[in-house]
Amino acid sequence: MSSGKKIVLLVIGLAILAFFFFDLGRFLELEVLKAHQTELEATISENLLISLALFFAIYVAVTSLSLPGAAVMTLAGGALFGLGWGLVIISFASTIGATLAFLVARFLLRDVLKARYAATLKKVDDGIHRDGAFYLATLRLVPIFPFFVINIVLGLTGMKTWTFYWVSQLAMLPGTAVYVNAGTQLAGIERMGDILSAELLLSFALLGIFPLIAKFVVGRIQRKRLYANYTRPERYDYNMVVIGGGSAGLVSAYIGATVNSKVMLVERGKMGGDCLNTGCVPSKALIRSAKIAQNMRQADHYGLKATEPDVPFPSVMKRIHSIIKTIEPHDSVERFTGLGVDCVQGSARIISPWEVELEEDGQTRRVATRTIIIATGGKPFVPPIPGIDDMEPLTSENLWEIEEQPGRLVVLGGGPIGSELTQAFNRLGTQVIQVEQGERLLPREDTDVADTILTRFREEGVDVRLQHKATRFAVEDGEKVLYCDHQGSEVRIPFDQLLVAVGRKGNTEGLGLENLGIEPSPQGTVPTNDDLSVVFPNIFACGDVAGPYQFTHTAAHQAWHAAVNALFGQFKRFKVDYSVIPWVTFTSPEVGRVGLSEAEARDQGIDYEVTTYGLDDLDRAIAESEAHGFIKVLTRRGKDRIIGATVVGEHGGELLTEFILAMKHNIGLNKILGTIHPYPTWNEGVKFTAGEWKKAHAPQKVIEWLGRYHSRRLG
Ligand SMILES: Cc1cc2nc3c(=O)[nH]c(=O)nc-3n(C[C@H](O)[C@H](O)[C@H](O)COP(=O)(O)OP(=O)(O)OC[C@H]3O[C@@H](n4cnc5c(N)ncnc54)[C@H](O)[C@@H]3O)c2cc1C
Repeated sequence: MSSGKKIVLLVIGLAILAFFFFDLGRFLELEVLKAHQTELEATISENLLISLALFFAIYVAVTSLSLPGAAVMTLAGGALFGLGWGLVIISFASTIGATLAFLVARFLLRDVLKARYAATLKKVDDGIHRDGAFYLATLRLVPIFPFFVINIVLGLTGMKTWTFYWVSQLAMLPGTAVYVNAGTQLAGIERMGDILSAELLLSFALLGIFPLIAKFVVGRIQRKRLYANYTRPERYDYNMVVIGGGSAGLVSAYIGATVNSKVMLVERGKMGGDCLNTGCVPSKALIRSAKIAQNMRQADHYGLKATEPDVPFPSVMKRIHSIIKTIEPHDSVERFTGLGVDCVQGSARIISPWEVELEEDGQTRRVATRTIIIATGGKPFVPPIPGIDDMEPLTSENLWEIEEQPGRLVVLGGGPIGSELTQAFNRLGTQVIQVEQGERLLPREDTDVADTILTRFREEGVDVRLQHKATRFAVEDGEKVLYCDHQGSEVRIPFDQLLVAVGRKGNTEGLGLENLGIEPSPQGTVPTNDDLSVVFPNIFACGDVAGPYQFTHTAAHQAWHAAVNALFGQFKRFKVDYSVIPWVTFTSPEVGRVGLSEAEARDQGIDYEVTTYGLDDLDRAIAESEAHGFIKVLTRRGKDRIIGATVVGEHGGELLTEFILAMKHNIGLNKILGTIHPYPTWNEGVKFTAGEWKKAHAPQKVIEWLGRYHSRRLG
């Protein structure tokens, strides 16, 4: 604690101590006030200004120190100064006192809370930023909680001091007026309870609800204004038009069809979008072929004869396309038409909040819809590096069409997609040079995780170039060349083919967002609210085009929220919850993560503990000659509460699922440890991690005593 805080705490502590030690509260009792009213009035008439200043100062001190007696002082204000002066002076004194209490609580405690509960506090602050003024007004008008509690609690939030001040001053005014007015007839008051009749309490309650009603009305006016420039159709053709038939669009349309709403799904390319056609499915199919090739090379690890695989590349690609074909029916027009969805194979453009223009086989038509879901996904971002266009770069979009295996392949990008494809191509016999401008691969993961992958890549023969910033491409003597800046010197990398995997951009071109006055972010994503609505309450976005995550499972998670909010938002809107988001990078070893990494926990100021378990110790891993990698779990210090887990190892994605379940349902490591895991499985690794945590938290004193107890029993 800083010395400034210590001094403030000491002063406040001494003041409160003095108040109770000298029993100063006896001067702030109704009977005392009534008994001395005449003397006090005489003193005041002689020294009005000094009396006002003194009264003001005492009132501020009482409220700022949260001492009992403010109600009696308010009556005194009316009795001694009359309604006019009394109201003015008490209104300001009470608000200034409350604001001082608010500021002191903030000064002493907010940093402490921020260090321990940064994420929770951020959520509270966001809510306070949005609706804090309304809540404060209600709490002041309907005094369910004592005012001193409100002052302190709101001081711990991010509410602006000025907002706290003016809302408090206005909302406390009616109550203050009632008390000051009552004070003018002090003789008639026997008990404090006499002041507030049932009718008066009811009026306050109604006044308290007033801010909420005002908020509702303001919301309606804002909505009216938002739609003012558009003509609402008299009838709608659809309850929901979904633009994009990828993971997000398909789930949205499925939900719409399930609840019997009339849904149109528009897809301009292939149904299934990126995941099926150019993303998860082909990449995982490629990774599997590559793994088999690597297993053949390492067959001697299993007592077999190692052999360099012969890789007929076209047949690897053929297998990938046949896998896509097998999965295709899940996402097909036939399936969705069967579910009752009107599927349109064409392009959609938003004309107004209720109108979508469809371009189908060169024809255009417009449909009217109550709600619109934007699920247009993303595409690979190709950075504007000089000469890059002449390299005819491959991206995740056109990669799956190549028929010849690249000889020397430069993979630009060290993120998950770049790393998965690097390893797969390298294992299939392509000479891969992976170029990353940052200091490590997988920049979202912790250093120990990234280092494990880097070591494996280099062991397998990948030429990984970190801190290499691509500056230009050239063709020299018929050979493609990449020039990089590496710590100030130019590095020349000759290659045959280039694969760009440096990030993705949302698909918003031609979507008609300008007709709605919506500006996409520089990453091409559409900014959404908590309920995934986009500026207009009847337009939603989900999946890659919405961000912040770009995975199939997050697209589906968002799609549920977008569709339910679109169809039932007039009754209740669900906020999308990103608290337990998992992902897996399908390298060998796999990297699975849920929740926070160490770096993120540090950035958020969270006090955490790390428990690790080496998978090299796991019987099943040893039996499979895959004894490498680790599990790392982050818990809040001193608590059995998982805040993040990373698994680096074979089947890392599958092992992760147990942690996802645990985090989602607040299951701690103790419970995981107490659960029987079958032997010998990879998932035992999860249980053994819980065991490591338990060992570190074993009560040492009790164990010592038990030792003594048992040695005594030996005789
Ligand atoms: C190589 C690679 C590997 C990946 N691996 C994984 C993985 O292992 N796990 C994982 O979870 N995620 C993975 N992803 C990410 C995953 O593919 C995406 O997050 C997911 O596909 C996003 O779904 P979406 O519906 O938002 O977008 P998309 O699947 O891109 O679908 C959007 C659709 O909208 C259509 N569209 C766009 N504009 C219009 C318009 N105006 N009118 C009509 N239609 C339109 C597009 O044609 C497209 O089909 C991978 C991605 C890549 C590139």
